[in-house]
Amino acid sequence: MLIAGAGPAGWALAGACARLGLDTALADPAPDAPWQATYGLWADEAPDLPASAVAAAPARTLAIAVSEYVIPRQYLVIDNNGLRDAFADNRVEVVTGQVDQVVSGKLGTTVVFDGGRRMAAGVVVDASGAGRALSGGPAKRTTAEQHAVGVVLDVADAERLVPDAGHTALFMDWRRPAPDPTFLYALPLGGGRVLVEETSLARRPGLGHDVLAARLKARFAGAGIRSGGRTERVRIPLDLPVPRNSAIVPFGVTAGLVHPATGYSLAGSLRLAPLVAKAVADGLAQGPSAASGAARRALWGPRARAVHTLRKRGLNALLGMSCSELPEFFELFFALPVERQRAFTSGREDLTGTAVTMAEIFRRSPGKLRKHLIR
Ligand SMILES: Cc1cc2nc3c(=O)[nH]c(=O)nc-3n(C[C@H](O)[C@H](O)[C@H](O)COP(=O)(O)OP(=O)(O)OC[C@H]3O[C@@H](n4cnc5c(N)ncnc54)[C@H](O)[C@@H]3O)c2cc1C
Repeated sequence: MLIAGAGPAGWALAGACARLGLDTALADPAPDAPWQATYGLWADEAPDLPASAVAAAPARTLAIAVSEYVIPRQYLVIDNNGLRDAFADNRVEVVTGQVDQVVSGKLGTTVVFDGGRRMAAGVVVDASGAGRALSGGPAKRTTAEQHAVGVVLDVADAERLVPDAGHTALFMDWRRPAPDPTFLYALPLGGGRVLVEETSLARRPGLGHDVLAARLKARFAGAGIRSGGRTERVRIPLDLPVPRNSAIVPFGVTAGLVHPATGYSLAGSLRLAPLVAKAVADGLAQGPSAASGAARRALWGPRARAVHTLRKRGLNALLGMSCSELPEFFELFFALPVERQRAFTSGREDLTGTAVTMAEIFRRSPGKLRKHLIR
């Protein structure tokens, strides 16, 4: 099989396939380029994550909506090199090149690279991220997006904004949201550094990075922070379409695995990689096309589709909320028992749990917010 895209999703799947003895190639224009993003996830979403893939495990997770909540859930910061090493397997053939197209015929599938190189493959996976190189290209309509601008600070500076910043994952701080509904997110990176981000959760089109940078700068000025280090820009399309059935298997962001209301996809890709690999391995006995079909079914069963529809409703509700409604909404969310929160953020196939959490928020909402949710 050939996987196009050596991001976290592509590597997770390639490693899982190689371990099952599948003949696996992984293609990317820059397969060895370091992953630049700072990834975070809930520890309970990735129970098999090796310690070497964790850069930091903050002692507490804090969320501030109208009031302050300590969330009894471990949040982890990923060590990108450690994560890639965990998937690496010398049975994976790493190919440097951009996959341009796939030609399917009676004798099988041929993958065509820029420059004209060709490779035969039984199963082809598109893990090329939001560019969806083999799955219809970037979205044609304006997507709802999560945008953020982050700056790495020394712990001493970060503590001017986040209490005990060296040991705290600040999941959200919605204080001071006007004039745009943005929140502060902060993660200790280890080594005395903290990433502090100004984030716009969901907006169509995404809030300009210049606006976010200016807001962060104003926060820094207000706290007496003069300068920071490395800058990080986040852009996550939240409602990319789930690719329709075709001979190609999508994976990762390309497959629509981004949670529409939170922007997270990494943990989902890590969890699904072994399941998709097994579906391919089992399906290959009936031929490559049966293997591709089995992989697609492993990704998007009826429950996952139904939950995705509910999550998109959640996104639509968030999109229309004002600066005052968003903190009010998250005040209700973080006041829920943690298992209710987990059902909505992480229960990809938990239809009942997702529906109950959404109904509970609705039931607890005061009149104006409830009217908005109905709309
Ligand atoms: C700054 C930032 C921070 C983020 N933080 C988080 C987070 O904390 N938690 C989380 O869950 N998500 C986060 N995200 C979302 C993030 O997009 C995904 O989690 C993750 O990177 C998706 O992995 P992926 O492998 O599906 O796609 P990508 O990481 O986008 O990888 C796609 C790969 O495909 C390659 N490629 C593209 N076109 C081709 C082609 N034609 N042929 C071959 N290869 C190709 C690219 O070079 C790239 O290596 C963040 C995103 C950003 C930008």
